Amino acid sequence: MAENKKADHPENSPEYKGLMVNAGIDQPESVNQDSVKRFLNKKRAVLAPEVYINGILAGDITLLSKAVTLVESSKKEHQQVAQEVIKACLPHSGNSIRIGITGVPGVGKSTFIEAMGRYITSKGGKLAVLAIDPSSECSKGSILGDKTRMEELSGDKNAYIRPSPSAGSLGGVARKTRETIILCEAAGFDHIFIETVGVGQSETAVHSMTDFFLLLMLAGAGDELQGIKRGIMEMADLIAINKADGNNVEKADIAKAQYKNALHLFPLKESEWIPQVLTCSAYHKVGIEAIWDQIESYRQQTRNNDHFFRKRNAQAIYWMHETIEEQLKRSFYDRPEIKEKLKIMENYVMHDTMSSFVAAGELLDLYARLR
Ligand code: GDP
Repeated sequence: MAENKKADHPENSPEYKGLMVNAGIDQPESVNQDSVKRFLNKKRAVLAPEVYINGILAGDITLLSKAVTLVESSKKEHQQVAQEVIKACLPHSGNSIRIGITGVPGVGKSTFIEAMGRYITSKGGKLAVLAIDPSSECSKGSILGDKTRMEELSGDKNAYIRPSPSAGSLGGVARKTRETIILCEAAGFDHIFIETVGVGQSETAVHSMTDFFLLLMLAGAGDELQGIKRGIMEMADLIAINKADGNNVEKADIAKAQYKNALHLFPLKESEWIPQVLTCSAYHKVGIEAIWDQIESYRQQTRNNDHFFRKRNAQAIYWMHETIEEQLKRSFYDRPEIKEKLKIMENYVMHDTMSSFVAAGELLDLYARLR
């Protein structure tokens, strides 16, 4: 069978004279094994802090990305370099508008970010899109993780998209995102979007690191005011009802009126800003400019009344406390001696041989002695 096939092959026909098989060539002397190895090692090696710092300040996206990877890493040697880089970038940060975007899955967040992002870059702005998704460890990144999303924006040289850091508690993920904001701003990104899913605790974290909070909603049939927590609505500086297109336009207008009424019930914000409700179609890129105008007015108004800066200062203090709490907790729970004693104490508490408070006290005493 195999022989037949060989005979059938046109190249083996005696009439076929066009083809000549040359003798093989020798391999070139060096295939650069050493330099390949050096390159691979280099890729993994942590560079000197100055390399990241200079790169970021020059707007080098590759080095920015590498520095963000260090920020996200839990390795001690990575964190040390990361903290040095953040420190050097801090004086060059802050010159941006930070916008939190939330809404239930499917509301159109990534479609909206793509539309608004393209609008911003078309006006000469530079946009970094970050995310906070503490669930992504289990769901393998439900937001921003999917590479097919935001295709246009990913190809835009004035946009930088970074998925949510995947590991750790909400506090840990949020701290990393906040540090990433600093690096992005130092790299020249003057617009920062932080996406989060509107279903849990993460909105509070996003709210505490952004200047403006945008809530995307859908017009439902009769359930306009449900599905999203009152607290999240209260945080919003603007509600945009998305998918206001086709035969959904009328429903969206009705929802708009209802949300407007609902917002009236909330007390006046400290910023003195009165949140509006608008409709848009992220898919058809309709209503995007009107939303941007609102964000611009907000920036103007809150800069004039100083709220913009007061809020940022308050956020910086809040994050200092958050970081202390997070690092204290980590340094406590990471101690092998604590881990060991914790198991024993848990057993005591479970069997009522010791109260929770006494057990906690003993563990804290041990921690104090270890330091
Ligand atoms: P996310 O989960 O909130 O990020 O939502 P996506 O941006 O992935 O959008 C979910 C679905 O809604 C996708 O199929 C989008 O194409 C669609 N979608 C998003 N925005 C609009 C819109 O303005 N109008 C319509 N008709 N569909 C939209």
